[in-house]
Amino acid sequence: MDAITVIVHFCQKILLVWLLAHASLAGAASKSAAVPTSSDWCKKLVPRLPGVKIDTCQAGALVPSGAVSAQGFPILVRHIPAARVDNAKAVRVLMIGGIHGDELTAAAIVFQWMQWMKRPIAQEFQWRIVPVLNPDGLLAPKPKRVNARGVDLNRNFPTPGWEKEAPQYWAKHTKSDPRRFPGHAPLSEPESRWVNDEIERFKPDVIISVHAPFGVLDFDGPVHPPNKFGRLVFTPVGVYPGSLGNYSGRHKNVPVITIELPNARAMPAPADVQRIWADMLTWIQKNVPRKSLNAAAPGVRTVAAP
Ligand SMILES: [Zn+2]
Repeated sequence: MDAITVIVHFCQKILLVWLLAHASLAGAASKSAAVPTSSDWCKKLVPRLPGVKIDTCQAGALVPSGAVSAQGFPILVRHIPAARVDNAKAVRVLMIGGIHGDELTAAAIVFQWMQWMKRPIAQEFQWRIVPVLNPDGLLAPKPKRVNARGVDLNRNFPTPGWEKEAPQYWAKHTKSDPRRFPGHAPLSEPESRWVNDEIERFKPDVIISVHAPFGVLDFDGPVHPPNKFGRLVFTPVGVYPGSLGNYSGRHKNVPVITIELPNARAMPAPADVQRIWADMLTWIQKNVPRKSLNAAAPGVRTVAAP
């Protein structure tokens, strides 16, 4: 073997070693950058969700909406087309849980209801479901009402006059309670922006927003309010600048059903969970027309969600 052949062989070996090392590094990098799955998100969420098992969370088949919370957790959504009627003609329902992170049951009950999407009435509607709108609040070391930037998302919607009314209301009526800070501008937060964008894209005929712990039912919008879902009785709870009920129900003419569960940490009895769901779907079927977004405004109530 002459000197040139030795040098060529040596160089080939160096190249081979470099290629192998590079390939194994690339493999390690791709493993560490693996795309998170529904299982990863459920592992984080489930410890905060009373009565929700990991299987129930995963069966929810949530997918990233494309939007992320202030701290980068995906806003997870489920899209379900209508199965029993023409999807294009189906009433569109946007259901939102956990807008306030310390109302644990308000996210958990949405996961439980999602197990029953194959029931006949549910299949008459087209759904967008977001069980946890405020993941940063829910996953905080101590769950908190506000998002990671300290904003009460249910005061951050662009009701007319927000710039003046929301800060004034916060200072005067809540004595600048940090749990009710409306933000520095309407839609300043990624979570409220996503809801606003989704209302524009999906054009829901009705919005369901779940809270706790007042144990009532509230309603804003252009159709007659429901009387009762399960044990929850219709009880208007007040008007708040920047709330979703005020914004959507009063100003966008998209009715908002606000469910206020009786306890933020302990789930209602299973029979009550079923009854609220069944009564709510029956009421929507009988009372919510499709395309209420374009309906006339007369008779709009002016009471907002809590
Ligand atoms: Zn709430």
